[in-house]
Amino acid sequence: MRWADLAFEPIGERTGVYAERSVVKKAAWEFADMERMLESAEALYGPYRWGRYDVIVLPPSFPFGGMENPRLTFATPTILAGDRSLTALVAHEMAHSWSGNLVTNATWNDFWLNEGFTVYFEHRICEAIYGADHMGMLSVLGAQDLMATMERLKAEGHASDTRLHLDVTGRNPDDAMTEVAYEKGCAMLRTLEAKVGRPVFDAFLRNYFDTYAFQSMTTERFIAHLREHLLEPNNVTFDVETWTEGEGLPADAVMATSDRFKLVEAEIARWTMGTKARELATKGWTTFEWMHFLRHLPATMSTEQMKDLDEAFGFTASGNAEVLVAWLQSCIRNDHDAAYNKLDQFLNTVGRRKYLVPLYTDLIATEKGRLMAQTIYRSARSNYHAVSVRTLDELLAWKDSKPPARF
Ligand SMILES: [Zn+2]
Repeated sequence: MRWADLAFEPIGERTGVYAERSVVKKAAWEFADMERMLESAEALYGPYRWGRYDVIVLPPSFPFGGMENPRLTFATPTILAGDRSLTALVAHEMAHSWSGNLVTNATWNDFWLNEGFTVYFEHRICEAIYGADHMGMLSVLGAQDLMATMERLKAEGHASDTRLHLDVTGRNPDDAMTEVAYEKGCAMLRTLEAKVGRPVFDAFLRNYFDTYAFQSMTTERFIAHLREHLLEPNNVTFDVETWTEGEGLPADAVMATSDRFKLVEAEIARWTMGTKARELATKGWTTFEWMHFLRHLPATMSTEQMKDLDEAFGFTASGNAEVLVAWLQSCIRNDHDAAYNKLDQFLNTVGRRKYLVPLYTDLIATEKGRLMAQTIYRSARSNYHAVSVRTLDELLAWKDSKPPARF
């Protein structure tokens, strides 16, 4: 057992970051907007009631992006991208100081009340600090995740998990927690906002957090509160049960769009028509634009095309985990073995389940990939957190199930 050598770096009056001494300066730079985020959050939905708000950066084996422990968010080091581009996660965990920690889901069936509200709140904080364009891109990427998740759930025979109001009777709740609670929940709030206008909706949410502060909340109770304090006084027609009890995305969902992503799509079209990657108009692209680019590349690409992209944009060498993972998925699907050393290294270093699951899932789609997945998992498994191990043992039908090493 080696104990961590933790250091602390203040960001603002009430905010700061704990991390390994070798990482803490980098982390403090990355999270420089934390105090402003807290001020923006308070301006939206009322006072922060927990005194200090700090973040601790955990080792790469931490299986989640973040965990909103009151006063001290636990965070994965994979958000230290070096360009402050993945700090929406901090806005998200901070927002949980209202939705989640202040007004708390009463049961795991009501999980969407924690996560849907928090994604909506996260987007509002990011909009206040980084602008509407940024928020639009963040929302569209979230909607892409939601659509992919819903398709997967339907294909796997779990269409009922596309409902906001879950039924986890007899199951491990972790198995029913998907993007649906996050992104469909957020879409419902965005749709309500569009119906009543932002000032009315913000006043409603502010009142909701004040009214139920330090209490737990069920879906039924929330619906009654919504009817009484938003829908009826404003004469709004809104079929809330279709949202909470129905499967899939309701027809009235207000979904985000992004003009900046349309420009990305135009560049992809040029590339597929033969323009060299280095001639594409990518100047000034943010991480979000690169994510959209990588997600919308053709499913099948030649080795020459993969090399052209990597030489122009250096994806394999990217220190941004979102960009790297999206690229590695393309590499696996196209059997681009030039990236396999990097893939091996990443899977042996990072234990964040959000990245492990898609990479291993893509690997096991072919026989060659399945062998590679098993070899890598054999060496990496003992360093993964039990939460990730449980998911991956099942995904990989792992037989050699000695319990993971204690840590
Ligand atoms: Zn959350």
